[in-house]
Amino acid sequence: MMSDCLFCKIIAGEIPLKKVYEDETVFAFADIDPQAPTHILVIPKEHIGSAAEVTEENSAVVAHIFEVIAKLSKELDMKDGFRVVSNCGESAGQSVHHLHFHVMSGREFTWPAG
Ligand code: AMP
Ligand code: ZN
Repeated sequence: MMSDCLFCKIIAGEIPLKKVYEDETVFAFADIDPQAPTHILVIPKEHIGSAAEVTEENSAVVAHIFEVIAKLSKELDMKDGFRVVSNCGESAGQSVHHLHFHVMSGREFTWPAG
């Protein structure tokens, strides 16, 4: 755990949130500022700074995150479609430096994303 990381604090239970899913390596919760009717964040419990810090050693959890996303897409009734986004770095608008995947559903999405 990184003591100054918001999402590490969330995993440690130090911040109130709406938990959607948890297992040994992955945690998912509702985004506090939803950009779609359904907007959840899926994160590894291990602190990985961003998509740019995924390596051969830690990438298994990323594959598992996508299994969890597929499972949640069924449980949360996203059959009309959903968008998965991971902002990486300043120009992409990453504000929390712990790898996270936004999963959004329940409205139409434009492309390319602004
Ligand atoms: P990003 O800007 O891509 O780094 O995404 C960070 C996301 O974390 C934003 O969508 C925020 O709304 C969300 N967020 C920040 N603080 C919290 C919190 N305490 N609980 C849930 N989501 C949060
Ligand atoms: Zn962290």
